[in-house]
Amino acid sequence: MPIVKANAYGHGMDIVCGALDQTPAFGVASINEALELRNLGFKQPILLLEGTFDSDEIELASENNFWLMVENHRQKDHILKAKLKQPIRIWLGLDSGMHRLGFDPPETHEVYQHLLNSGKIDSLTVLATHFACANDLSNEMTTRQIECFDKTVRGIESATGHILGQSLANSAAIMGWEKALRDWQRPGYMLYGNSPFYGKQTSTLLRPVMTLKSEIISLRTIEAGETVGYDAIWKAERKSTIATISIGYGDGYPRRAKNGTPVIIKQQRCPLVGRVSMDMITADVTDCDCAQLGDPVILWGPELPVNEVAGYCETNGYELLSGISTRIPRVGIN
Ligand SMILES: *Cc1c(COP(=O)(O)O)cnc(C)c1O
Repeated sequence: MPIVKANAYGHGMDIVCGALDQTPAFGVASINEALELRNLGFKQPILLLEGTFDSDEIELASENNFWLMVENHRQKDHILKAKLKQPIRIWLGLDSGMHRLGFDPPETHEVYQHLLNSGKIDSLTVLATHFACANDLSNEMTTRQIECFDKTVRGIESATGHILGQSLANSAAIMGWEKALRDWQRPGYMLYGNSPFYGKQTSTLLRPVMTLKSEIISLRTIEAGETVGYDAIWKAERKSTIATISIGYGDGYPRRAKNGTPVIIKQQRCPLVGRVSMDMITADVTDCDCAQLGDPVILWGPELPVNEVAGYCETNGYELLSGISTRIPRVGIN
């Protein structure tokens, strides 16, 4: 199940889901995202990863063939009270240790039984959980979460005689924790070609999908001792050529990108200098052979992993990708 929340991790839901049209279902975070996918013409079931936020969403979800995560008693009660034309498909969220969403292991059986007895859910319930640390292959928490999941699913199945579907794995678990592979996998970040592991810029199995590109809109030479940009935080130590590039935090390029963050011009890495503005950044192209006005500039992409850029911005690539604003046109290639 491709996870396409947050505008497909910033890539554009229409383009991404068009490329993944053969998949049996999509996963999104909110009902608005799911409705957007329906408006774009996609017919698959769509799982709401956080379930519904209010009771009025249940009937809308049912009419649109959305599947619901059920993560707490409020969501369960909304389903029990809903007037449904047909039973709805649910994924029951188990809190196996992340402590963000989901039912405690001991109560999960009872919740499931209650929903089953109500006749509001169909017979293909999936038990799902989410990992806190699967991106760290040396962290034993993942093994403990899998054990908790297995114990819970065995308990429910022996008590009810029903077989549940199973879903545990995000990208990192798909790539690194074989025991987590079950009926449904939920890849997000890896789907877009990026390594989900800490300290890994890239994976030989994956190729980044997104190239974030702009161009040089101004070029000038400044003397040693002169400064560049707001707050004058960067001072030239030598006579320097400065390229102004048309992208800024208004586009989702992070304002906290440090001086030295690489950008690529004519296949060469050049360092960001000065503050990121709303609409522009500046780079030192003194050592970049013959940079010219209008030259394309790559902010990240296959040649410059977003994970590496994120390392200069005290964040992860997920935040950078999902933060790309609507001002940037998405162009689908291949
Ligand atoms: C976002 C999300 C995923 C995808 O995680 P990645 O690390 O991007 O693969 C999977 N499952 C749930 C419940 C999520 O919210």
